[in-house]
Amino acid sequence: MSTPQPQTTPRRYQLFIDGQFVDAESSKTFATPNPATGETFAEVAEADKADVDKAVAAARKAFEGKWSKMSARDRGRLLYKLSQLIERDAAQLAELETRDNGKPIKESTYIDLPGVVENFEYFAGWSTKIEGETIPVPGQMFNYTLREPVGVCGQIIPWNFPLLMAAWKLAPALAAGNTVVLKPAEQTPVTALELAKLIQEAGFPEGVVNIVTGYGETAGAALASHKDIDKIAFTGSTEVGKLIAKAAAENLTKVSLELGGKAPNVIFADADIDQAVNGAMMGIFFNQGQVCCAGSRIFVEEKVKDEFLGRFKEKAEKVKVGDPMDKATLMGPQVSAEQLNRIKSWSPQLDPQFQNGYFFQPTIFSDVDNKMRVAQEEIFGPVSSVITFKDDDELIQKANDTIYGLSAGIWTQNITRAHRFAKAIKAGVVWINTYNMMNAASPFGGYKQSGYGREMGKHALDLYTQVKSVWVDLSGKPIGWFGK
Ligand code: ADP
Repeated sequence: MSTPQPQTTPRRYQLFIDGQFVDAESSKTFATPNPATGETFAEVAEADKADVDKAVAAARKAFEGKWSKMSARDRGRLLYKLSQLIERDAAQLAELETRDNGKPIKESTYIDLPGVVENFEYFAGWSTKIEGETIPVPGQMFNYTLREPVGVCGQIIPWNFPLLMAAWKLAPALAAGNTVVLKPAEQTPVTALELAKLIQEAGFPEGVVNIVTGYGETAGAALASHKDIDKIAFTGSTEVGKLIAKAAAENLTKVSLELGGKAPNVIFADADIDQAVNGAMMGIFFNQGQVCCAGSRIFVEEKVKDEFLGRFKEKAEKVKVGDPMDKATLMGPQVSAEQLNRIKSWSPQLDPQFQNGYFFQPTIFSDVDNKMRVAQEEIFGPVSSVITFKDDDELIQKANDTIYGLSAGIWTQNITRAHRFAKAIKAGVVWINTYNMMNAASPFGGYKQSGYGREMGKHALDLYTQVKSVWVDLSGKPIGWFGK
């Protein structure tokens, strides 16, 4: 493997509240390591309840003030400007993402950053297209709807695609006219705060976007339980998603959740096996396996099991694991020592040889039964379980035998079988002869315990708008029910 180079002095970051960069009220900071070396990459202000309160107050003031008075066109122009500034700085942002998260530079450059730009660009266009309806009610009445922003949105995001998740959350919320308090994951706070600089440069009114970096149990919990938040959006583990939903229930705050997964990636004997092997690799080893829609359960039709497994193993062994800043690296380190240890608990004998970074090798478990823990629990690492099946019915039954329902993949040349599977599988996204495809225009989200609500596409606007029904009497006559 290529060896990651030591770091320079740590970068320093403050919170972004009411348009200003400020220290935490407590003056506390926390360190975020570079996962490739274990060294401190940045020292970041640590928000807790007091800072969250300040940020929510700023977001409320902006929502009731300048932001609500701005035209939809001007909101859209700001979002578009932001997308252009991100594109201008994409190379630098990609490098910071890789140093903070550990993902290969090839990924942050060609997947994450283009996705960020695409999302802001796409939702910029929606600002001027959010419309109400007129309803054909009976009698001399005019009834119409207004589609209005929800208000102040708390958004809590994970560490696996730090800037991309910020974009998925911020872009639709802002397009619809909401203001936001965003809490990045403590493992990867850097690029969200870099984004704050561009938000400032683009000219968003102060308080429209506030970014509070800190820990989940403190800053995150303070946001989720805040009385003056109108909506909370969360992406992360199913376990924390349940805590968020409980906290939100106390104030009946609206909630959307994008949670864990244990996706089936299904290989039929009639598939193009080379393509299927590539698809299986993409499904489980992309982003070090730290993907909620990872194809972590690979279902293989019994008669091609040996052929598939042989090729899959051969390819997995060749994956270049190493310095994420090396353009040829396909897998970098896991995001944190904690994550690495969690993964190792599944496969302790595979302790990798690396020095201080949090590296783990691609791992395949064969002969797995779908009932085993390894096939039921989300590992969130480069660990796949290969499970065999004999026919379509058995496959559907096993594939759906999970608490999760985020995504699914199928590899077959038989179009009837492919669409039958797409209909029968209980998952929010289905990939046929491909995997991990996404676009800002296409909805993404889960069935079952993978969450509720759809991000991206026009469906994301449902999460960030509410409908008001307005009745107008056209008859000019008194109601008369209680007499004239
Ligand atoms: P992981 O277990 O993979 O680190 P989490 O679901 O814990 O993922 O984290 C996703 C996000 O949720 C992070 O921003 C984290 O800080 C936040 N978080 C964790 N615990 C809580 C909590 N109790 N309340 C609110 N946010 C939390």
